[in-house]
Amino acid sequence: MGEFTLIDEIRRRCALSRGDVILGIGDDAALLAPPPGQLLAVSTDTLVAGVHFPEGTAPFDIGWKALAVNLSDLAAMGAEPAWATLALTLPQADALWLHGFCDGFAALAQPHALALVGGDTTRGPLSISVTVHGFVPSAQALRRDGARPGDRIYISGHPGEAGAGLTSHLAAALLRAPAQQDLDHLLARLNRPTPRVALGLALRGIATAAIDVSDGLRQDLGHIAARSGVAAVVRAAALPLSAPLSRVGDERQRLHWQLAGGDDYELCFTAPAAAAERIAALAAQLQLPLSEIGEIVAGERVRVLDANGIEVELARGGWEHFAA
Ligand code: ADP
Ligand code: MG
Repeated sequence: MGEFTLIDEIRRRCALSRGDVILGIGDDAALLAPPPGQLLAVSTDTLVAGVHFPEGTAPFDIGWKALAVNLSDLAAMGAEPAWATLALTLPQADALWLHGFCDGFAALAQPHALALVGGDTTRGPLSISVTVHGFVPSAQALRRDGARPGDRIYISGHPGEAGAGLTSHLAAALLRAPAQQDLDHLLARLNRPTPRVALGLALRGIATAAIDVSDGLRQDLGHIAARSGVAAVVRAAALPLSAPLSRVGDERQRLHWQLAGGDDYELCFTAPAAAAERIAALAAQLQLPLSEIGEIVAGERVRVLDANGIEVELARGGWEHFAA
């Protein structure tokens, strides 16, 4: 496949028509018509082989995850996804790989009515960079800086599953072997995360701050605390534990995955105590656990307390590129 056949394949498999795409793939730039009166939310995330996914990950999963991590950022802003561009760097033009990748990308783009409108294709070590564009009414964006003392802290889903999946995959010898069914579940959380787009949209006007958990709950909640100028207190016992996660590793490992595992793409958000009933109703409606795990207080940083109220120490805070 040459570069242009390759781009054509991508267009055929991933492009999707939307009324607000005046001109998509095929010209020097896409022409897009954002809805009047809304802000454009824009975010980019890159996946590099061996860093963001294990070497040998299925191309379908890479395509899915490259889009999922980006949609997760839009979800965390309360934005509605619309368009994406894709910068693809490939070691070779492998048709089978490309088809798998496009199928994974399209499988997630379609239910979100997200149109791929352009990109760039180059040769080099495998790396995928996606930029997503979404819409949000200006007063309703979910920012990191709105948490206030007295707000409750919530987390969606079951953070820790992706981290447990990664450890099971890379360092199975360190663990009591998980049952195949549990392993499949944990690896699916790692390789095909679900961006919480519907939750992000529903939290407009309810959440005071939000972030998606990509680098570990404690570290990402720390960004809310820092940007909001407040402290966060998390009760370790309140962290949700799924059945598959409860059966892998030991208690200390599980706590580490829950707080610092990363790659979960759940939403961590804050809301006034008075919103508890609306949030419970939302959890039922979306069929997604929304667990209250702590409280915002005056001060700074994140403290995680055990059942006796003693602060929990963690070996490492969370995922950070260029960390010593
Ligand atoms: P140019 O040389 O003018 O930058 P390209 O030859 O790189 O144009 O791209 C031709 C068209 O194909 C453009 O519309 C571009 O957005 C699109 N395109 C290129 N690579 C990709 C890709 N990986 N995914 C989606 N669209 C792509
Ligand atoms: Mg050009």
